[in-house]
Amino acid sequence: MARIAFIGLGNMGLPMATNLLRAGHDVTGHDPVAEAPGIPRAPDALTAAKGAECLITMLPGGAHVRAVYASGALAAMAPGALVIDCSTIDVADARAAHASAAEAGLATLDAPVSGGVGGATAASLTFMCGGTAAAFAQAQPILAAMGKRIVHCGDAGAGQAAKICNNMILGISMVAVAEAFVLAEKLGLSHQAMFDVAANASGQCWSLTSYCPVPGLVPASPANNEYRPGFATALMLKDLRLAAGAAKSAGANTALGQHAADIFARFAEAGGAGLDFSAVIRAVREP
Ligand code: NAD
Repeated sequence: MARIAFIGLGNMGLPMATNLLRAGHDVTGHDPVAEAPGIPRAPDALTAAKGAECLITMLPGGAHVRAVYASGALAAMAPGALVIDCSTIDVADARAAHASAAEAGLATLDAPVSGGVGGATAASLTFMCGGTAAAFAQAQPILAAMGKRIVHCGDAGAGQAAKICNNMILGISMVAVAEAFVLAEKLGLSHQAMFDVAANASGQCWSLTSYCPVPGLVPASPANNEYRPGFATALMLKDLRLAAGAAKSAGANTALGQHAADIFARFAEAGGAGLDFSAVIRAVREP
């Protein structure tokens, strides 16, 4: 079992660190704010990382990850140790993080997740990994304690690329499903009829059949629960902005992704930031 430093014990990090402890790993956590009951704590990242065989970060953004990597934590780890960043961050930041870990002689992986707090708690996350085959193999037993699907997407940054491309599809498709339901309402079509047709026709997609933005049609939909997240609008907006930034620097045309980002930004500013992202149907209904 590995000696693991876990940095960032928020909504996702705490259940992930808890699952590592349950699997028998020796975990020391650090978070300046979160309470994180049950996780042995260090006063800072450097202390947590001393002699660790693995350092995992689960932080809000790229600047936070860079700050931890620059704190001296990397140099304090055991020789041949592994660094895994599970946060969702910019592809360029992820590549810079890989470079600084490699400079310190460490194996390194970007491994953002999907599955949300429910998946983190149930140890059923999907990990999208970028890095060398050797780093991916080294990470397997650790990631397996926190997730069910562990996919090697390619070299440094490939996990973040997969994550933001997937979430761009999700953001766009949720707006599309919301627009279809609102148009159906205005045309006098019942929600049930609209669902029964589209769920079994070419409009079928995850946003419709697993996460429908209209209440009463799909069991686990946040719409059934006053749009309590789930996956908050603020996080969807973050991911759409990361996708837009990546598209700009890579020269890709993602017009619909940008449009979806604008729609979620307006909804967040109007008070929807803390609601599940499927609540964007309210903004579509009353622009
Ligand atoms: P969160 O805000 O609940 O937790 C982040 C934690 O990081 C906070 O407790 C904060 O105090 C801590 N932190 C900030 N700077 C730190 C530092 N320098 N050292 C140590 N700790 C520090 O966020 P979350 O929901 O746990 O999300 C974490 C990451 O996972 C984000 O990048 C997010 O985009 C991604 N993500 C979240 C979800 C979700 O459903 N919540 C799903 C997939 C991916």
